[in-house]
Amino acid sequence: MWALFPSAPAASEPGVDFYELDGLADWPDGTLNVLIVPPEHGPIYNSDTGALSGGNPKEVGINNTYIAAIEAAIGAWDVAVQQLGTDWLSDSYKPSVYVLGRDEVPTEILTKPDILVITDENEGPVLGTAYRLFPCVVRMSRMELFSFSYADMYNVTAQEYGHCLGLGHIGGQGGTDPTSDLKEPEHDVMNGFNTHPIGAKGTHLHCISNLDILALEQALGAHYTGYFWGVGPGGNVVMPAAAYGDTCVAPPANWREMTPPTADYGGYPVDSVIQSPSRGAVIPASHFKRIAGTGEAFEAERFDVEIGLARIDWDGSCHWWDQASQTFLDRDCYSPVWHTASGSTAWRISLGSFKAGHYRAVSRVLASHGSEAGSEACCWDAPNVADFELTKQRSRS
Ligand SMILES: [Zn+2]
Repeated sequence: MWALFPSAPAASEPGVDFYELDGLADWPDGTLNVLIVPPEHGPIYNSDTGALSGGNPKEVGINNTYIAAIEAAIGAWDVAVQQLGTDWLSDSYKPSVYVLGRDEVPTEILTKPDILVITDENEGPVLGTAYRLFPCVVRMSRMELFSFSYADMYNVTAQEYGHCLGLGHIGGQGGTDPTSDLKEPEHDVMNGFNTHPIGAKGTHLHCISNLDILALEQALGAHYTGYFWGVGPGGNVVMPAAAYGDTCVAPPANWREMTPPTADYGGYPVDSVIQSPSRGAVIPASHFKRIAGTGEAFEAERFDVEIGLARIDWDGSCHWWDQASQTFLDRDCYSPVWHTASGSTAWRISLGSFKAGHYRAVSRVLASHGSEAGSEACCWDAPNVADFELTKQRSRS
């Protein structure tokens, strides 16, 4: 269970150079059915607007402020995936959202949604909770001392829904220590402490960050095992503060390059190394036959190594070789098309003949450890990446 707590703003956060966030593999893929059980009314009472947002009749029924805020917050994740996610994530993350009593809900989703969104008049000192069960339950309070405003409902929903996607809290100690120096960034949707007084006028909407999206890529990209929530694999994303940005304030263009490889595989180290071609190799195209290397996965009975091969354009854009269609697909540089190599501790793969140009090979290990599995992240400056060049002419040495 993850909860969002009210809290005073941080005193000061000197010297916080890195932000961190867990992304856990709770879902086999991003095709998720979301069922919202709508609150029957909007804000009951606030000191500045009085009852029902100044007696607005729309606040009772299906057009109330809270339903709008809940839908907008879930929709904000779509926008962030499109804006900050890789091509792979955009292809994978496909939620279908239904409001009970308003939308026509297919029977199988009524009986078995993946994510169930509910509200509660008062959860006591907790603003919202996410229960990672089947279905995952997103549960928002509607008031603390005063009723939630639109922004309160939006911000709390965005976080609890994020938990149900597999994300933890931002910060050291899993974001559970309000005095931690690592609880920044304060206004990220996945911060475990809400620094805005509930019901106050003028609270801003929180924006979804590239840190959130990178953790979502870990959550949906890790090798899901179908076992218990949170026990399976995932990644702990650590990002330099300078690389951070969100859907409101864009991160630096090279934020992915600035961010170190994600390295947490449920406690099991997995590694692969590309040995041939070696990084920076210049090879006559006619001599290029295969990609080969080594792999290891601690205490795994068996594991696979997967390979992606990109052709890199002069402007740095990537086109990933797809063995099935025998073509290069236009995808971003972080969204390989994977092919399983032969062998594991020593592996090799032949993907065909290619014309002259700049290429990048990437490898990763997929390992099974009993009920758990690990998936190596793509690390652009790591031994599992090799850029090389194929030339028309036989190279002279
Ligand atoms: Zn804020």
